[in-house]
Amino acid sequence: MAVTASPDQQKALLDLQGFDTKLLQLAHKRAGLPEIAAAQDLEVELGSIKMRLVAAQTEASDLKLNQLKAESDVEQVVSRARRDQERLDSGAVSAAKELESLQHEIGTLAKRQAELEDIELEIMQAYENAQQAVTDLLASEIETTEKLSTLAQTRDDLFADIDFEVNSLTSQRTEIANGLPADLIALYDKIRADQGGVGAALIHRGSCQGCHITIDAQEIDQIRNMPADAIARCDQCRRILVRTAESGL
Ligand SMILES: [Zn+2]
Repeated sequence: MAVTASPDQQKALLDLQGFDTKLLQLAHKRAGLPEIAAAQDLEVELGSIKMRLVAAQTEASDLKLNQLKAESDVEQVVSRARRDQERLDSGAVSAAKELESLQHEIGTLAKRQAELEDIELEIMQAYENAQQAVTDLLASEIETTEKLSTLAQTRDDLFADIDFEVNSLTSQRTEIANGLPADLIALYDKIRADQGGVGAALIHRGSCQGCHITIDAQEIDQIRNMPADAIARCDQCRRILVRTAESGL
């Protein structure tokens, strides 16, 4: 059986459409808040900072171990050179060949010590750089975390405002819907789902306010002659056409 509804019920369908349109706009607004994308960007940035921080901390701790190793290498060479020098100074070694060998070793050890000290300096410099990187990244981490937290708060406040409005509109919408025949609502909801959120439209100045296409004269005549409780549909978009005093039929 064809769906029918009194003129008042059909008019109420336009009120319902008004609420549904506002609700759709709010859903778009909520999903498109720039704070959502900005917070996502900051989360990505924070993730990258944390990864670089772990890498810098690992590098710094590796370099610290290398530095300790380099210090111990230098100490070994220094203490061996000292022992050689003490032997030399003690006069215990008198054989010319052995003396020459001892002096040669002291010379070699001095060169080796200089090389190892250069390496140690390089490692110390690299360690300081890594430590500085850790310090900088820790500061960035704190700064970005604070920025993200402020932004997330703004975003959540905006969500709460929109949700409050949505709840209020939804309860008003439900009240209207509850006063309308179930088959009318079912038809309206189905068309709304197929037609970008608009299920019912006013006829105004001979055109459908849903698709804004002019309804041809013959069709207008048919609508004019329909019983008041019959449901008119747009030939173009199939939306429910609501006739009111404003329609100018
Ligand atoms: Zn239409």
